[in-house]
Amino acid sequence: QSRSGYRGRFAPTPSGPLHFGSLFGALVSYLDAKSQQGQWLLRIEDIDPPREQPGAADAILATLEAHGLYWDEQETYQSDNSERYLAHLDELEQQKLLFWCQCSRKDLAGVHPYPGTCRQHQNSRPNSAIRFLAQEGVDCFVDIFQGAQQANIQQQFGDVILRRRDGLFAYQLAVVCDDIASKISHVIRGIDLLDSVYWQRALYRAFGKGLPHYGHFAVIHNANSEQKLSKQNLAPAVDVQQASVNLQQALRLLAIDVDLDTPERMLQQAITQWQRASLANRQIITLAPEALLP
Ligand code: GLU
Repeated sequence: QSRSGYRGRFAPTPSGPLHFGSLFGALVSYLDAKSQQGQWLLRIEDIDPPREQPGAADAILATLEAHGLYWDEQETYQSDNSERYLAHLDELEQQKLLFWCQCSRKDLAGVHPYPGTCRQHQNSRPNSAIRFLAQEGVDCFVDIFQGAQQANIQQQFGDVILRRRDGLFAYQLAVVCDDIASKISHVIRGIDLLDSVYWQRALYRAFGKGLPHYGHFAVIHNANSEQKLSKQNLAPAVDVQQASVNLQQALRLLAIDVDLDTPERMLQQAITQWQRASLANRQIITLAPEALLP
């Protein structure tokens, strides 16, 4: 049990093994939690079978352990939580915050945000996606790393899909239901998810729950590429045989200098040196070409 009430999490999608960018993400959320005597939970976001790779979830668990990144409590799997998502959808339906959308991909090609075409479909229809009615007005919050943020959700982002036409639950719904169920107090993740905050905060409010703190840290780019390290651009899996070296490289990006040692001892030292300021207002971290071992 945490003394501070801090509960953070790492929530990887098992679409492939951990690459250096996702290891860095795990490390940042771990350090932020542990430096505040918090709990750090692990949730495997396996609700999109077409994107998943067999064995990836187990490989992620093994990679975290090899790096001394042990999580508190039993890890959870989103694929176990369908009942929870359905119950939350019911709650939104009762509040008339959902509608059933029959627009095809073709109908919406090049249109952004979603223009609200099907908003009047407030009752269940077959062969439809379920969307969450975006409310009017501006939402503001202070991001732990990026500072003051604001957006008009209806004008900028529109009505988000919570359940796809093929029946799969969408990330935006699942992440909020599970963060609520796990009593997550701090959502620390990559800046590529910054825009999702507005929908997620709107969902928290609709469910009548207190909002967590959000921190979106810089994503890692290769020096010679415009792209972030990701599974899509085939960033290599981290080599578990050199966990300490990987940790040292990742910690250097956070201005934390620790000698090579066991991952556990390196992390113990890193916790005392971690400062959120090392990531303040940074959106991209560029890796020098020689920084990553082959
Ligand atoms: N599963 C998401 C991903 O791997 C992260 C979700 C989150 O941290 O909110 O990108």
